[in-house]
Amino acid sequence: MDLTLIGHEDRYAVEQLQMALFPENPEGTAVSALSRGKTWLTATARITRNGKTVTAVRRLKAGEETVRLRRRILQQSYYLAAIQLLDRKPAWGALAGVRPTKITTKHLLEGGTPRSADRLMKDVYYVTPERRHLAVDCSESTVKAVSLLEPNDLSVYVGIPFCPTRCSYCSFVSRTIGKKTELLDAYLAALEREIRVTARLMKERGKHLRTLYIGGGTPSILTTPQMIRLLDTLREAFDFSRCIEFTVEGGRPDTLDLEKLRAIREHGADRMSINPQTMEDSVLRVCG
Ligand code: SF4
Repeated sequence: MDLTLIGHEDRYAVEQLQMALFPENPEGTAVSALSRGKTWLTATARITRNGKTVTAVRRLKAGEETVRLRRRILQQSYYLAAIQLLDRKPAWGALAGVRPTKITTKHLLEGGTPRSADRLMKDVYYVTPERRHLAVDCSESTVKAVSLLEPNDLSVYVGIPFCPTRCSYCSFVSRTIGKKTELLDAYLAALEREIRVTARLMKERGKHLRTLYIGGGTPSILTTPQMIRLLDTLREAFDFSRCIEFTVEGGRPDTLDLEKLRAIREHGADRMSINPQTMEDSVLRVCG
C-alpha cells in the first residue's frame, strides 16, 4: 500500500502502524496529512482500498505540540481510518512497536496506578481488554523487580545482532547472516574484549552484576562451540556472586538443538527466554 505524507515527515511512526495493520501489504493508497492552524494541529488519514475510501481526524492544541503528541495524533488518525476497513479490531490497537509494556511500565514508574495505566492503553492506544490486562500485569511485575535493585546493582545485556533471516516488522539492530556462522568469530573476538573491559570497570567502580541477559538478534545462531566460548568468557570475567538470573534468548527454533541447550545449561546460564514471535503459523509466514 502506497503511503503519502503531507505536511509532516514522521514516516516511521505511520509506516510501522500501516505494516502492523496491513501485514500483507495489499493494493491501495494511504495519505497521512498534518495541518497547522492557529489553535489546532490536525492529523487526517485517508485510506483507499478495494474501491472504498475512509478517513479519520485527530487533533491537539497547537500550543501543546511535542514530537510524542504529534506522532500520537498521526497514528491515532491512521488507526481510526484503518479499522473501518478491517474485519476485526487488532488486539494491540494502534500500537505498532514490539514492547507495549514500555508504555505501561513508564506510566507506573512515574506514579500512575494499574487502573490509570489500563485507561491509557484503552483511551490512547485502543488496546483490547485482554491485552491491556496482560501489559499492566507484566509492568507491575517489572516495577516490583526494579524495587529489588540496590543503587550499585547493574543488569548487563550482551547483544548478538545477527539473525538467520529478517522478520518483516523488525526494528532491532540485527543483520541477516544466513548460514555463514563463521562471520561470527570476528564479532565474538571483539565482544570478548568488550566483556573484559566492562567487567573490569564494574569491579573498579564497585558495581554488582545482578542479572545477565544474552539477547539479539538471535543469540542461539551461535554454533555450540561459539556459545560455549561466550558463556565461559562471561563466567571468567564477571563476579556472579550476586547475580540472580543469567538468561540466554533462543528465538528461532531452527537455531536450537539438544546439544546447544545442554551446553547453555552446563556453561552457566540458568534461564532461557523463548520468543516465538507468534504462535500462529500464518503470521510467522508473513513475518518471513
Ligand atoms: S528474530 Fe528478532 S531480531 Fe531477528 S529479525 Fe526477527 S524480530 Fe528482528
